[in-house]
Amino acid sequence: MPTPFASPQALPELEHATPAEIVGWAAETFTTGLVATASFGDAALVHLVATHAPETPVVLIDTQYLFAETLWYAQHLSERVGANLTIIGPDPSVVPDDLWSHDVEACCAARKVEPLRRALSGKSAWITGLRRADSPLRAGTPVAAWDPGHGLVKVNPLARMTDDEVEQYHLDHNLPRNPLSDRGYGSIGCWPCTRPVALGEDPRSGRWAGTAKTECGIHLTTAPTPTVPAPSITLTTTEGSAHVR
Ligand code: SF4
Repeated sequence: MPTPFASPQALPELEHATPAEIVGWAAETFTTGLVATASFGDAALVHLVATHAPETPVVLIDTQYLFAETLWYAQHLSERVGANLTIIGPDPSVVPDDLWSHDVEACCAARKVEPLRRALSGKSAWITGLRRADSPLRAGTPVAAWDPGHGLVKVNPLARMTDDEVEQYHLDHNLPRNPLSDRGYGSIGCWPCTRPVALGEDPRSGRWAGTAKTECGIHLTTAPTPTVPAPSITLTTTEGSAHVR
């Protein structure tokens, strides 16, 4: 039985740090071992990483089925904020097909999960845009914790941010938006599996609508035991330093 998300057993002190402090801590702690992934549905995570961990690659997984708007936005936003954008795709043996129409699990496995494994290979920490407000399944998302499935520390600097706080972040930093967000797309994935949502509707209800699927699989932890020991980490925030693991 897959464990959806690691429990918040590690790095609890980060719970009280700001998103900027969390990203800065990750950059100092993991240096070149740090990587970020972004779906480019919005700009908050990309701006945070570009500002506080500018050398860190920001990976967009191009599934072959991304909206043209998202590909444009990834380039536009990255140039605007100075993000180290890295686009990776599926294995060359994966060619466009109609798998999405009858086997979404296999399609996501080939086009999202496998490329992510490559993006994380050799890395010691992974920054994501997961938020507790995204969905009930993500409500327990820790700010940072050991990810046994990928054998690294998973850092979620936006974990505590509400929808309103993300909106305010965009306004505060005058950040451009994915054009699809103005057309009702509350959560943006691949075009065959994403529909716009009505005002007040759960933003993620537009993903894989009409199916039981709610996650593409890249945030599901399948290995119960770490294959490498969790690192010893010292957290430095505006409130001082503490050895946390
Ligand atoms: S979201 Fe849809 S199109 Fe994209 S990889 Fe998953 S099943 Fe395929």
